[in-house]
Amino acid sequence: MNNHELSQRDLAVLWHPCTQMKDHENYPIIPIKKGQGVWLEDFDGNRYLDAISSWWVNLFGHANPAINAALKNQLDTLEQVIFAGFTHESAIKLAEKLVEITPPGLNRCFYADNGSAAVEVALKMSFHYWRNLGQTQKTKFITLENSYHGETLGALAVGNVALYKDIYAPLLMDVITVPSPDCYHSEPGESWADYSTRRFALMEQTLAQHADSVCAVIIEPLVQCAGNMRMYDAVYLKLLREACDKYALHLIADEIAVGFGRTGTLFACEQAAVTPDFMCLSKGLTGGYLALSAVLTTDNIYQAFYDDYTKLTAFLHSHSYTGNALACRAGLATINIFQQQKIIEKNRQLAKTMGGVAARFHEHPHVAEVRQTGMILAIELVKNKQTREPYPWQERRGLKVYRYALSKGVLLRPLGDVIYFMPPYVISEAELELLAAVAWQGIQHAVRD
Ligand code: PMP
Repeated sequence: MNNHELSQRDLAVLWHPCTQMKDHENYPIIPIKKGQGVWLEDFDGNRYLDAISSWWVNLFGHANPAINAALKNQLDTLEQVIFAGFTHESAIKLAEKLVEITPPGLNRCFYADNGSAAVEVALKMSFHYWRNLGQTQKTKFITLENSYHGETLGALAVGNVALYKDIYAPLLMDVITVPSPDCYHSEPGESWADYSTRRFALMEQTLAQHADSVCAVIIEPLVQCAGNMRMYDAVYLKLLREACDKYALHLIADEIAVGFGRTGTLFACEQAAVTPDFMCLSKGLTGGYLALSAVLTTDNIYQAFYDDYTKLTAFLHSHSYTGNALACRAGLATINIFQQQKIIEKNRQLAKTMGGVAARFHEHPHVAEVRQTGMILAIELVKNKQTREPYPWQERRGLKVYRYALSKGVLLRPLGDVIYFMPPYVISEAELELLAAVAWQGIQHAVRD
């Protein structure tokens, strides 16, 4: 079997996510045979450095020996069991660990099976909490401009990336959208903290006006990942937590992308020392092995649902694979690696190295900004460095970088014209240098003409 044969068979029967399938008339789809560490290998023997952690999920490399061993053990014991009326050891241990490592006060864990589903759970729980308290006027959610929370209809409604959302607008619930603290728009010389504080005034105004009808504010802490890796300061989270308390509404922290060390701390909320009312986790939760998500919440929320069955206050949401045993076991193995190998401390050096290899991009004539939060680094490609005028999107410059990098053995997957590095934490210094060199050449190639 080779690449060509498999890609032909694939394109005859499959429909891939986030893809205009017609693009594959010009660009082959790449069948992957195996993965090892940060490397993926296709059926023709080409290797690709997975610089985006396979859609931000992989933390400790492909075919990680510790996670593999844990999964093999789980496989011979229990693969899956109904999670209503039944439970199992891996689900319990993982929930105990999550309660231990998430911000103080998050003492309850509800499982779902992907990120969007976790967002749906948090939205429904928040709304339902207020219902159970008799506050039926609370029906709305506040979200940030440029945010992303997933693709199911509820998650899409609270997101704000036009490319994914606009076409479905007639199907989506109404939300209140507040301008983003995204620091790409800060004034020259203005610090991220100052800009984020200044932008918070717009959130405060909205809260003052709408709090009575609002269930919760949902936010991606520190980095709006799918929204082109735009970043802001932790002070915004601190102010938001205080305001949510003041106006009596919930704070939902969607840490699906930024959780598990991506921003430099285990969870991004730690940088503002805040505890949200709901924290959504997925992606890195299983080290990038299996689909699992969790919503962590407080005793206060949990207690509002806890009553005699006949009161009909229970949260009756369910997914067939809730708390899947294999996925929970992968989650446990992943958290073990964090704790045993002091990953967060080690990543401080790795993040510095990543910043170092990307330093030269600041001077590139078509780079408007190089920004970094922990283990996420983004390079904003523009037509005009002075005015920051973007390239017309139809030119698909980012795609040119993608294609070039693949030909050199690096998997980058720019968001529009934003090239970013979000690698597994097992990447070496030499591999980071390779990544930066290929990204540089890719940009040179993409801006030519
Ligand atoms: N929230 C955020 C912040 C995300 O980045 C994503 C996925 N990119 C999701 C939610 C949705 O997760 P999933 O793709 O597992 O549905």
